Amino acid sequence: MYSKTVMDHFRNPRNVGTIDNANGIGEVGNPLCGDMMTLYIKVNDDNLIEDVKFQTFGCGSAIAVSSMLTELAKGKTLDEAKKITNKDVAKALEGLPKNKLHCSNLGADALQKAIKDYEEKKSGKVKTDSRNIEPPIAESHDEHKHDDQCHCSYCDSDLPDGATFCKACHSDILAKLENNA
Ligand SMILES: [Zn+2]
Ligand SMILES: [Zn+2]
Repeated sequence: MYSKTVMDHFRNPRNVGTIDNANGIGEVGNPLCGDMMTLYIKVNDDNLIEDVKFQTFGCGSAIAVSSMLTELAKGKTLDEAKKITNKDVAKALEGLPKNKLHCSNLGADALQKAIKDYEEKKSGKVKTDSRNIEPPIAESHDEHKHDDQCHCSYCDSDLPDGATFCKACHSDILAKLENNA
């Protein structure tokens, strides 16, 4: 069923908790089993992830995944950490049961969010508290970056992600957006 490594990380999760002066925070939710994970990273001046901590509310697999992820990310440079995928985490855990694979999606996603949060804060783009942007569960749809293009602003038909032209009414959405700007 579960590998020894999964059981080990589930029973003795590493790096549980929060970091007071974290400079990157990533929150993700997994509606399939209601798992929720918040990941805190502390990045130092050399772009090294000095410390990682997590709080996960979820199933055993989600906790093992979070714990393993913190071990993989700790001490890595941002560039290295960006390459950590959900697959890497599952692999490091020596596999997860098939019906639990979705739980491994939490880990790397939260890490990538935390890194993004850090970079945005650093570049000064962002509001001080990133934690209050959206509730974590709703964020499972965050691939949707083209909000204003998902529906045609002329005829309201659904548009594929990133579409710039509405086939229903032949309007050029991008031109419209730019004119409004
Ligand atoms: Zn789960
Ligand atoms: Zn249209």
